[in-house]
Amino acid sequence: MSFIYLILTTTCSLIDDFYMYIQTFVCFMKGRYPQTIVTDLDLGLKDAIRSELPSTKHVISVSSILPRLSNWFSVPLESQFEEFRSYFDSLICMETSEDFDFRWNQMVSRFNLDSDKHITLLHSLRTYWAPSYTRCCFVAQITTLTFLKSVDAFLKGVFSEHTCLRSFFDQVGMSANFQNQSNNEMQYLHTRTCIPIEDHARAVLTPFAFNALQHELVLSMQYAVSEMVNGSYHVHHYKKMDRERIVVWVPEEEHLCCSCKEFESSGILCRHALRVFIVKNYFQLPDKYFPTRWRQESSLMFLDDQHSQDNDEWFREYQSLSENLFVESSISKERSDYVRGELMKEMRRLLNEVRNMPDNEVPSGLFLFLPHHL
Ligand SMILES: [Zn+2]
Repeated sequence: MSFIYLILTTTCSLIDDFYMYIQTFVCFMKGRYPQTIVTDLDLGLKDAIRSELPSTKHVISVSSILPRLSNWFSVPLESQFEEFRSYFDSLICMETSEDFDFRWNQMVSRFNLDSDKHITLLHSLRTYWAPSYTRCCFVAQITTLTFLKSVDAFLKGVFSEHTCLRSFFDQVGMSANFQNQSNNEMQYLHTRTCIPIEDHARAVLTPFAFNALQHELVLSMQYAVSEMVNGSYHVHHYKKMDRERIVVWVPEEEHLCCSCKEFESSGILCRHALRVFIVKNYFQLPDKYFPTRWRQESSLMFLDDQHSQDNDEWFREYQSLSENLFVESSISKERSDYVRGELMKEMRRLLNEVRNMPDNEVPSGLFLFLPHHL
């Protein structure tokens, strides 16, 4: 168990309840403690976690703090609030704790917030929520706003004031089954590069993780790599020379560590590390770079290989035909105008027809409530 996302209803809970919830959870997990726990900002919960889960890294989701900024600071700062907000957003992007502290102090003096109680609270808790302090904790992207919104939408779809725990788990099971039946996500995962690493990763990773890795792989092509005397690498964007990363390479263990710490935090390799793997002629990533959390075999998804292959073949045919058509029609303006007009007409007709065809795979409504990580 590497991490948990704790969902507690805090509106009517007493502090003692937090202790009881956590003890019950640990008991339920047969005494095994999580490596990381991600929660909302709540001081009572923080104390309970420190007491009951002393070896667990507690992360307060920054996405749970951002919506409170307006309530806390818009009145005292008035017209300066928007500027403060962009200062605060820039803090979240700071990579090192030194950079964070420097920028924080700048912000506090710029807006004269030395004695503000919320600033004092946030500063005292910075090691819990500031990404520059929590970057090395594996949180599998669950602190992002996108994930929190998907959980929120899912819970609103299955919870009501009368929902019991049994019914909640039934709903989760039903939603997962619907997603399995649809297989929608996996069918349309197509490769976007000719890099063998991508093909291999597609066979191993869940759709969400594959999409994330694919995005990094595409962007990795924009990075230059130079080897240092100690065997590590400088990696920098071809335009942004000032954002250089250091990738440390330990050949004996096939271990690679980037200064951005993306893999340590999300379990998805960053573009910088991927660039180094490509330069080193890797055609598949070492097994350890596919964490259990992101493997198809450990997710609730299952794949229909035949269906997936058929779709791949169809997609390749479509792509090849479109490319040929584009090349032929680009030869002259007359050709281009003719193809464009005819194609648009035909595509709109087809689109309307397809939209009116029955869809018997996905029951409407419930599928949309399912968090994309399930
Ligand atoms: Zn990196």
